[in-house]
Amino acid sequence: MKVVIAGTGYVGLVTGACLAEVGTEVVCVDVDAAKITRLQNGILPIYEPGLQEIVMRNQESKRLSFTTEMSAALPGAEAVFIAVGTPPGEDGSADLQYVLQVAGQIGQLMEQYLVIVTKSTVPVGTAVRVNRAVKEALSARQRLLDYDVASNPEFLKEGAAINDFLKPDRIVVGVNTSRARQTLEQLYRPFLLNGHPILFMDIASAEMTKYAANAMLATRISYMNDIANLCGLAGADINQVRKGIGSDPRIGKHFLYPGIGYGGSCFPKDVKALLQTGREYGYQLRILDAVEAVNEDQKQLLFRKVLRHFDGNIRNKKFAVWGLSFKPNTDDMREAPSLVLIRSLLEAGATVSAYDPVAMKEAATYLGNSITFTDDMYSAAENAAAILLATEWNTFRMPDWLRLRNLMQSPVLFDGRNIYDDVQLIKLGFTYYGIGKSATS
Ligand code: NAD
Repeated sequence: MKVVIAGTGYVGLVTGACLAEVGTEVVCVDVDAAKITRLQNGILPIYEPGLQEIVMRNQESKRLSFTTEMSAALPGAEAVFIAVGTPPGEDGSADLQYVLQVAGQIGQLMEQYLVIVTKSTVPVGTAVRVNRAVKEALSARQRLLDYDVASNPEFLKEGAAINDFLKPDRIVVGVNTSRARQTLEQLYRPFLLNGHPILFMDIASAEMTKYAANAMLATRISYMNDIANLCGLAGADINQVRKGIGSDPRIGKHFLYPGIGYGGSCFPKDVKALLQTGREYGYQLRILDAVEAVNEDQKQLLFRKVLRHFDGNIRNKKFAVWGLSFKPNTDDMREAPSLVLIRSLLEAGATVSAYDPVAMKEAATYLGNSITFTDDMYSAAENAAAILLATEWNTFRMPDWLRLRNLMQSPVLFDGRNIYDDVQLIKLGFTYYGIGKSATS
């Protein structure tokens, strides 16, 4: 079976590589010619653990190839996946221009039956617009070709994307014809054989499932951040509370970690887009309004703690920021809480030295030379008034505290991810601030 993937970003590249890995012939198409040339030469545009090996292996075996030409990719394909970006528009709704561009292009170029599958995260009702774009392009050519549209939202997590794709909890597929269902069932057969379920449903429900899932996860984060803030005020410890509630199977222990707010390319934009969908239907999603408001506030939490500790006087003080990406194991900086923190520090007249194991190059595209990037976490901390942990990369988990205490201007630590032992640090002479622990909040 041959498929085409339009869009070679985090989702498109992982999808293409993993489908090739299970035996499908895959052609990845992207409008970014520089990205395609680099991929043809084995250079990946993103950091994702395990991806490089899979891309190389499947390129060598000729199951995976890259092109900028949709016309060269389509012949012989049975399905095309649209995996382009859907960034937030001005009103928060998902900007569908890239999705609809690709749909129109497919209509202009297709020569045989295709299942046109939207993998990008798109609001309920988008398949109708994709269908219209394909139909209009076909009728402009005066062609009557058969095709189906389908929705197959992606649930991979950056940093664990390969495992998530190859061993999915579930594959959600929205179809409205048995032909489309059969094609996608055949494509995903290797996953089904390994016991991973595929859930067929109507297209609108598949589109909605993705937003409902991301909004639920964002809700858990904002809920825990809210409870953590109250713990800090009321003499409770969120870490103990988290364990206490997580052991109830109705709640479960995943996604209960408080921090400095959710970021990334999905949760912020998907919550906004779902709120906007609600508005379009005259329905106010009150819980999600609160989820967003709590998150905006939480992104300022560490900065407020810094100001309080230094009595508002941080001008010309140097701060070390550890971790920049929105979460560990990725170089993705989109909507990273570290950016909000760093910009607040700079606006207040402080200087910032930062270290991240992978994301510094990407971070520089957002921050330019407004901060100093260092080669390791210790250099960042030299003469710093405090360390601020923004992303819980493994490399930050067991630092040499004595070394740090000696090289910092003052041994102060703001732990934005609650990964350190406050009792140990206080014993070592550090002033420690975590999230949602009364003694140190
Ligand atoms: P991305 O920005 O990393 O990649 C998008 C790619 O599409 C870019 O390489 C861009 O050049 C390309 N593109 C744009 N217009 C094109 C066109 N007309 N033809 C061909 N290529 C084109 O985006 P991403 O993070 O992979 O996200 C893609 C979609 O998947 C979004 O809707 C996102 O919400 C969704 N999603 C993302 C994740 C994630 O973790 N990143 C997870 C699940 C779903």
